[in-house]
Amino acid sequence: MQFDRLRLSGFKSFVDPTELVIRDGLTGVVGPNGCGKSNLLEALRWVMGESRPTAMRGEGMEDVIFAGTTRRPAKGQAEVTLALDNRARRAPVGFNDTDALEVTRRITREAGSAYRINGREVRARDVQMLFADASTGAQSPALVRQGQISELINARPKARRRVLEDAAGIGGLYQRRHEAELR
Ligand code: ATP
Ligand code: MG
Repeated sequence: MQFDRLRLSGFKSFVDPTELVIRDGLTGVVGPNGCGKSNLLEALRWVMGESRPTAMRGEGMEDVIFAGTTRRPAKGQAEVTLALDNRARRAPVGFNDTDALEVTRRITREAGSAYRINGREVRARDVQMLFADASTGAQSPALVRQGQISELINARPKARRRVLEDAAGIGGLYQRRHEAELR
């Protein structure tokens, strides 16, 4: 699925509403150290359903909410929306009747995360599955964190195999099998 736009508000250093248009082809993000390049990648991962705070370089998931600076007070919530091109109709049943899809995740300090697809409230799993099948998910090897290359080189064979399987697009199948076994 093609990413069209990423909108952030109150997410990490992106305290004010910010929108990025993601065009076809290669997109580069450049800027000085600490300007928020990695935060952008994390926002992408987060809206696709990342559930590990450590993958967001935090201790708890609420750490993604703008924490305040000497000049600006902290925010109470963070929200990220990813707009997708669904003209190829790759979305799951029930969400596949529109050309455009908007996936939103919001977190408040009190209530945790909530997800919406085109305004309709959904479960985290629905969002994770949407992207797992498209092989672009929060944990997809298509998103390489800073420092991850050296981690991969030093990884145990089993962990390395998992990355290759995700790259082959069968991560969603594993998740479903795991859930079936729990039932
Ligand atoms: P580098 O080039 O060093 O990799 P970068 O552009 O990737 O830098 P990021 O790591 O994305 O930079 O951004 C780091 C900045 O985000 C720091 O200034 C940090 O204080 C800020 N930041 C992270 N989390 C929050 C938060 N919850 N609230 C406010 N600011 C935050
Ligand atoms: Mg960085």
